[in-house]
Amino acid sequence: MLQTSTISDVRTRITAIRPAGADVSILSMPCPEIAAAARPGNFVNIKVSAGDQPLLRRPFCIHNVQGDTIDVMVKNVGRGTSLLCEASCGESLLVLGPLGNSFGTGTGEFDTALCVSGGIGTAPMLFLEKTLASEGIPFHHLAGGRSKSDLLTTGLSNVSTSTDDGSEGFHGNVVQLLEKHLAERTNAGRVKVFACGPNPMLKALARFCKDRAIGCELSLESVMGCGVGICYGCMVELSNADGEKESILLCREGPVIDGERFTA
Ligand SMILES: Cc1cc2nc3c(=O)[nH]c(=O)nc-3n(C[C@H](O)[C@H](O)[C@H](O)COP(=O)(O)OP(=O)(O)OC[C@H]3O[C@@H](n4cnc5c(N)ncnc54)[C@H](O)[C@@H]3O)c2cc1C
Repeated sequence: MLQTSTISDVRTRITAIRPAGADVSILSMPCPEIAAAARPGNFVNIKVSAGDQPLLRRPFCIHNVQGDTIDVMVKNVGRGTSLLCEASCGESLLVLGPLGNSFGTGTGEFDTALCVSGGIGTAPMLFLEKTLASEGIPFHHLAGGRSKSDLLTTGLSNVSTSTDDGSEGFHGNVVQLLEKHLAERTNAGRVKVFACGPNPMLKALARFCKDRAIGCELSLESVMGCGVGICYGCMVELSNADGEKESILLCREGPVIDGERFTA
């Protein structure tokens, strides 16, 4: 995991909004300073309306960086996300970022990256996979969802899918798909898993990887306020190297964590 260096608060406008799936939209916003400093896994904290409400910003992974522009992929789950998903091009937003740490890609510790996502957990994967490609690291993406309509694979390459109900791809969960993938690809060399998704999926994945001594980085979610370590709203409990419980601020020490810390 790598720490972020420069953080900017950028007043910008939405330049494009496109649907990406059921209740999911991708928003593009020119943010030159953030785009220049961003690494895959970083997030931004967005003031979603010009008015007082909602008061707190909302956190979103950086989905893509193209020149000076960043994209975020937003699932409509409540007040703030519905304002973003129903916004129009030209609307003004305040965007703070890049925040948090990032996935550790260029470490030379693995030969193949396996990117594993569940539902909206696909959000950070396009930027991650573009970075892996630019570093010459082979990758495969395993995307899971409850049903076909939950799969978000637009723009991704080398993708295999799983659905809990069997409506598309492998019939089962994405950890079972990973098990099948590993059994079939015995020539991948040293693999490392990079994952984002719902906590129960990440927990099962972390245990799966630990049992097989596979390196694993997870991008976690929690309710979050300031995004910069002041409000203490995003405290999560993990294990430390001695197996003891330890609380961290996800906005500063995350959102990417070593999977070993999420197995207890
Ligand atoms: C580091 C980080 C990165 C994230 N990246 C993305 C992303 O790329 N795309 C995306 O769509 N979402 C992402 N999320 C989740 C997103 O921030 C929340 O869905 C959003 O803040 C909810 O705001 P709301 O006003 O619409 O919901 P509210 O009206 O405040 O709440 C609606 C429901 O969503 C739940 N909720 C609120 N905040 C969160 C949260 N942080 N995580 C999970 N559930 C929450 C509430 O408990 C409630 O059940 C991320 C969260 C974090 C912490």
